[in-house]
Amino acid sequence: MSLSQVASSIPASPTIALNEEARLLREKGEPVIHLGIGEPKNKTPITAILSSAAKLASGDVKYVPTDGTPSLKKAIVRYSEENYDRVVAPQNIIVSDGAKQSLFNILFTLCNPQDEVIVIAPYWVSYPEMIKMIGAIPVIVTPEDGSFVPGFNEIERVVGSYTKAIIVNSPNNPSGLIYPEDLISKIVDLCERKGIYMICDDIYHKLVFDGKVAVPACKYTQKDVENSKVILVNGVAKLYGMTGFRVGWVIAPKKLVEIMTNVQSQTTTCVSPVMQAAAEGALTGMQSIVESLRLSIQNNRDVLMQELHSFTDVQCVKPQGTFYALPDFNAYCRNSVAKNSVELCQFLLKKALVVTVPGKEFGMEGHLRLSYAGTVKELIEGIERMKWALDPNAPSEIYIGDRKLVRDWL
Ligand code: PMP
Repeated sequence: MSLSQVASSIPASPTIALNEEARLLREKGEPVIHLGIGEPKNKTPITAILSSAAKLASGDVKYVPTDGTPSLKKAIVRYSEENYDRVVAPQNIIVSDGAKQSLFNILFTLCNPQDEVIVIAPYWVSYPEMIKMIGAIPVIVTPEDGSFVPGFNEIERVVGSYTKAIIVNSPNNPSGLIYPEDLISKIVDLCERKGIYMICDDIYHKLVFDGKVAVPACKYTQKDVENSKVILVNGVAKLYGMTGFRVGWVIAPKKLVEIMTNVQSQTTTCVSPVMQAAAEGALTGMQSIVESLRLSIQNNRDVLMQELHSFTDVQCVKPQGTFYALPDFNAYCRNSVAKNSVELCQFLLKKALVVTVPGKEFGMEGHLRLSYAGTVKELIEGIERMKWALDPNAPSEIYIGDRKLVRDWL
């Protein structure tokens, strides 16, 4: 079969593939613990349910403007004023099927084949693949000191005549770290000096811990939305736990929004008005929902750190936001159990029925990404099982579901 070389070279999203594997195991009755999943367990905010239900009940569910319904755009304008202190016109906004489509639209609109987009490791799995899909080249910056935050000079060094954009995701999936303000302000300055776009993936911007703030990049530009190189991506998936609604948006100069709108009009036409009504309900409803989600996730982060503390030879940088951590499992990636993070994940799933995501997928081999978006009970049991499977200092017997298992491989 003769297929597109580019399309054939794109692997399935590993996180989505793992979700499917976990779902199939659960369907068979296996007591799987999912520490891989990137979504909070909370119920949809009631205001989102009511507004989408009202739209559905109206029976008037038709095509709507490609760039988003006027009333959702109005809510996004207000959200931007309140959270970013930024004056945004409706023409600066395009609503898409999740932040994922927003990011794809931006990259497709900005890049010619062979253009370069800078991506900072550890990075969200989809950035490099999306960049490759549009024929551009991902230029990965991996912090030389082994940390999760690069020095500014490491970024500046890779900027060349083909550099079109840099993607900045802070708080960061998968490390959970917030980039220092100084780094953000220097990147803004670099982008504006060199005419490079700074794509800020702000999908976790309110899920921050211990009183820390992820200061938005736009704070450091003197320019208005129309003239700035800072492009903002956001959505309802993570903040409101509305992953299944698929609503994200971009705030960018009008010309860019216009072209993204043309692109979207030729691909998906528009986001379902039912889903847009839900997003509007979330944005205009009680915001205490975000705060209670943030608090419960912060508590989960503390539980995770405590549990990892007693895991022999595992170090973990304390996350400052998101619902992910990226502990270092290098000590367990060079023995008979596993040679790398991919094998380690497979081993943990097979032996302990715990889903984790290999650090390799995020540009950080030897690490595992753990999600603490689930329940405390799952978190504690999940880490307990991982210790049982890997740590020779952990008890050699464990109950998984109603099966008593004895470790015989260490
Ligand atoms: N950016 C990052 C960093 C993410 O982690 C995700 C979801 N895992 C997305 C974008 C996509 O969000 P959405 O579900 O709105 O498409």
